[in-house]
Amino acid sequence: AKTLGGAVCAFGTGEAGAGRTRPSLTLMTQLRSALGLVEAADADCGQLVVLFQPQLDLARDAVCGAEALVRWDHPELGVLTPAEFLDEAERHGLMGHLTHHVLDRALAAAAGWPTRSGDQRLRLAVNLSATNLLDVDLPARVAGLLHRHGQDPGTLVLEITETVLMSRSPRTRSVLEGLRALGVGLSIDDFGTGYSSLAYLKELPVEEVKLDRSFVADIAHDDRSAAIVASTIWLGHRLGVRIVGEGVETARTLEVLRGLRCDTTQGFLHSRPLVADEFERWLAARRAGVGTAP
Ligand code: C2E
Ligand code: MG
Ligand code: MG
Ligand code: MG
Repeated sequence: AKTLGGAVCAFGTGEAGAGRTRPSLTLMTQLRSALGLVEAADADCGQLVVLFQPQLDLARDAVCGAEALVRWDHPELGVLTPAEFLDEAERHGLMGHLTHHVLDRALAAAAGWPTRSGDQRLRLAVNLSATNLLDVDLPARVAGLLHRHGQDPGTLVLEITETVLMSRSPRTRSVLEGLRALGVGLSIDDFGTGYSSLAYLKELPVEEVKLDRSFVADIAHDDRSAAIVASTIWLGHRLGVRIVGEGVETARTLEVLRGLRCDTTQGFLHSRPLVADEFERWLAARRAGVGTAP
């Protein structure tokens, strides 16, 4: 079933994605339309949907935020996952527009959330792509969107992957510093998949590291993965960085992460990514103490 939100997406990694079955030019032309970049009568800005996946503070057992994850509800192909169109969008120079769109939608939704959950201030996390970090206007754009939606910069976390950091381009660095100067938090996503080095944390103004789910999934039964995760958490904490465990699917994994003093968890165990109103209902249900999440 290819539906949004709580349902399972039948798509796999995207290797057999839309680009194979249709000329990608068509797909990218349609993406331009979905982004509202063409003056077509049939332009549909409702196709790009932002889902929200809850993040939990482990020590307090309270929701502390959500990550925004884009889906493309394509009129003919069904729901496309990021793996099925983001690389192509990046190659076609559309990521600036896509990030703007996701940020705009996600901030609009976050403006309707309660500001806190228990004693936790809710944070919104949004993914950036490599080309976004080459855009010197990004900090100003982000500031404009925060202002438009009346959101405090301190509630926004922007996730970047290690690959971006590896380039060590001066332009990227100045964009990151511009974002940091705004008061926005920076997070290193998928930590452990690339040439990870906690040395980045010495140089860059990062406040959070997200352990990739490939490590997280193994910690309950693989001592080596557990050792890598344990030392990453320890060192991260020494450097004042919050650690998020991604892809938490089982109660056992959650308990191991808790034992290792991981700060935050995210994964199907708590909830799948949800459409905005489902997320608000999920939040309300948890607050009322009838939450289904562990
Ligand atoms: P990510 O940022 O690492 O996001 C986490 C991915 O893991 C999401 O896949 C999420 O649905 C999935 N996930 C969460 N919990 C679990 C779990 O317990 N088990 C498993 N197996 N998977 C889980 P999704 O939504 O398909 O996104 C894939 C990637 O696409 C993201 O990885 C991110 O790198 C990128 N992406 C998604 N949305 C955006 C966006 O708006 N902008 C940009 N630039 N990239 C995005
Ligand atoms: Mg992410
Ligand atoms: Mg990740
Ligand atoms: Mg990932």
